[in-house]
Amino acid sequence: MNVVLLGPPGAGKGTQAARIAGTFDLLHLSSGDILRAERKARTELGRKAQDYMDRGVLVPDDLILAMMMDHIARPEAAAGFLLDGFPRTLAQAEGLDQRLAARGARIEIVVNMVVDDAEVTRRLTGRWSCPTDGRIYHEMFSPPRKAGVCDDCGSALTRRKDDEPEVVGQRLKTYHAETKPLVAYYTSRGVLQSVDAGGSVEEVTASIERVCRRS
Ligand code: ADP
Ligand code: AMP
Repeated sequence: MNVVLLGPPGAGKGTQAARIAGTFDLLHLSSGDILRAERKARTELGRKAQDYMDRGVLVPDDLILAMMMDHIARPEAAAGFLLDGFPRTLAQAEGLDQRLAARGARIEIVVNMVVDDAEVTRRLTGRWSCPTDGRIYHEMFSPPRKAGVCDDCGSALTRRKDDEPEVVGQRLKTYHAETKPLVAYYTSRGVLQSVDAGGSVEEVTASIERVCRRS
């Protein structure tokens, strides 16, 4: 099964992907995480992407498509994958469909995570993450047992620079202008399933699992 989690930044895609990928044995591929790893490793791609990411705008489609297809082509993705943060533009979605079709594959389910801008702003401005294992926390909604420290590995938690309020505003604008049109695109392809992502983490997981089991 190949699944896309679609939704604004802060909808809870990364949080849910970690849970859903385990349940359905899918490879979790987050374009944002992959880009941050490229930056950390100081690769040419990481260098090209950094300015766009810091400004809260999208990295060019050709770079993203090549990067994500490299990951999708890996043997670990053969049994099914869960895309998080990709595709984010119509050109990316069309490029993905064409490249998958050439491999005899397709996207079977697109989970549209519906949540309003006020809630995602609250979520993003309180987000903390573990730089070692990627676990995501929120200072109020899902705090670590000890403030500032990862429950699983003990690393000091960090905040993303693009979660500062000024950049969050730009990221939401980018989402509405460039990513929201994918709702109509995937509806027309008959694969879109909307879930209310405004509830608790557990409630949202249950809704996504229901949608995935039904399909
Ligand atoms: P995305 O990957 O869509 O950008 P994240 O999964 O990183 O979003 O979640 C953004 C922030 O919101 C994190 O701090 C996370 O702990 C918190 N969060 C995720 N899901 C929920 C939820 N259902 N209710 C409250 N907070 C949530
Ligand atoms: P995210 O972790 O998904 O919030 O992504 C962080 C940043 O990485 C975004 O604001 C973009 O600059 C960049 N990015 C991630 N995924 C994509 C994508 N599919 N297309 C273009 N840029 C992306």
